[in-house]
Amino acid sequence: MKLTVLASGSKANCYVLQNENTALIIEAGVPMSQVYECIGYNIKKVVACLVSHEHKDHCKYVGQYLDAGIDVFASSGTIEAIDIAGFRKMKPLIGKKVVVMKEWSIMPFDVEHDCNDPFGFLIYHNECGNLLFATDTYYLKYRFDDLNHILIECNYQDEVLKESVEKGLLHPVVRRRTLQSHMSLRTCIKTLAENKLSNVVNIVLLHLSSLNSDEDHMKTKIGLNTGKRVFIAKKGLVIDINKDF
Ligand SMILES: [Zn+2]
Ligand SMILES: [Zn+2]
Repeated sequence: MKLTVLASGSKANCYVLQNENTALIIEAGVPMSQVYECIGYNIKKVVACLVSHEHKDHCKYVGQYLDAGIDVFASSGTIEAIDIAGFRKMKPLIGKKVVVMKEWSIMPFDVEHDCNDPFGFLIYHNECGNLLFATDTYYLKYRFDDLNHILIECNYQDEVLKESVEKGLLHPVVRRRTLQSHMSLRTCIKTLAENKLSNVVNIVLLHLSSLNSDEDHMKTKIGLNTGKRVFIAKKGLVIDINKDF
């Protein structure tokens, strides 16, 4: 199984988990043409697309995905907020209710962000094991036991965010919003420490702020604190996500 990052950050987000026969898309923030290219134009292998919340960087192209015949899932709150026109509709997921989609099983859970009913996802496939996906959340209230891969937001560093305001690069209101909607490096480290990491193979840091983060610093810090292989999610990143090392 491979993870491909088509985009990550406040402009656009889209991640594809796939092997030869099956693909699961997370977020609809890039045009369908890029997804087609990523899956080798084999639309039949796409099981679903999961959308975490209503912000455009995560859902801008939902209409195109639906038109391509993909089942797109999100919380009822997200579906209501996106309010897609047209014949094909998004499908609702219920928090903490496991849904089986072919060989995948998905458990959505609530996260903490400034929008309607946002979700993170615990995803299982026999090849990659348990994969945690959590972005656009300043905090994670749940703990997970048996993870194999963690895709988690690491948006900003407290000191860089503060500096950006002092230098006049960022409005204080935006700083306040960031504190209440996105995950800091400090919280990311704390969150990882509170989960059992013994079977974790990869940690992928998502949705870095271009202004308020230093990716080398984040990668080093998370690596030192967890002893795991750490990647920064960037357009074009492809990594193996198998269960075993
Ligand atoms: Zn976002
Ligand atoms: Zn958001």
